[in-house]
Amino acid sequence: MEVQRVETRTDAVCNCPRCRVNTKEITLGQTRLRECRVCEGLWVDSVALHQICTDRERQAAILGIAAALPPTAQLPIERVRYVPCPVCRELMNRVNFANCSNVIVDVCRTHGTWFDKDELHRIVKFITAGGMDVARAKEMEELDRKRRELEAARNTAASNDRGSNYHYDYGSRENALTLAAGALISSFFD
Ligand SMILES: [Zn+2]
Ligand SMILES: [Zn+2]
Repeated sequence: MEVQRVETRTDAVCNCPRCRVNTKEITLGQTRLRECRVCEGLWVDSVALHQICTDRERQAAILGIAAALPPTAQLPIERVRYVPCPVCRELMNRVNFANCSNVIVDVCRTHGTWFDKDELHRIVKFITAGGMDVARAKEMEELDRKRRELEAARNTAASNDRGSNYHYDYGSRENALTLAAGALISSFFD
């Protein structure tokens, strides 16, 4: 597949959180990103990340461009250092993307996500391999386990309290899970 990689001239400054040099604005297919020419890290704003996570064409564009690039020397990167958001300069959170991708990215909840070299490629591979569904299923399992624990605890409490007419309405389980899934899905794009 032909992937267009276009560099855009822009006056907007967006410094690499690791190298502190200005990044260049690039467009991969339809996705606009900022790329550091020193460490090859990528800054992806919240909107673009959402698009990448949900749009197969954008995913294919990222995989295509990564495959087309010649391998470059691996720069030593101090990966456990907390780095500032290029927009607000607050230190970003280090997050295991989708909780189970094992790719640790730096996230500013307001502005976007920093991907060190190859990380965006690894994330997109994770997504195209059905990783988001696995993440959701795991999260649902965990919610279900917690719900059962809670129910068991309540049943114990209720049986210890037979005298009262205590009744607890759990609500529909389906509703609770739907809500939880919604919260989970939106948390990927925070
Ligand atoms: Zn850099
Ligand atoms: Zn920020």
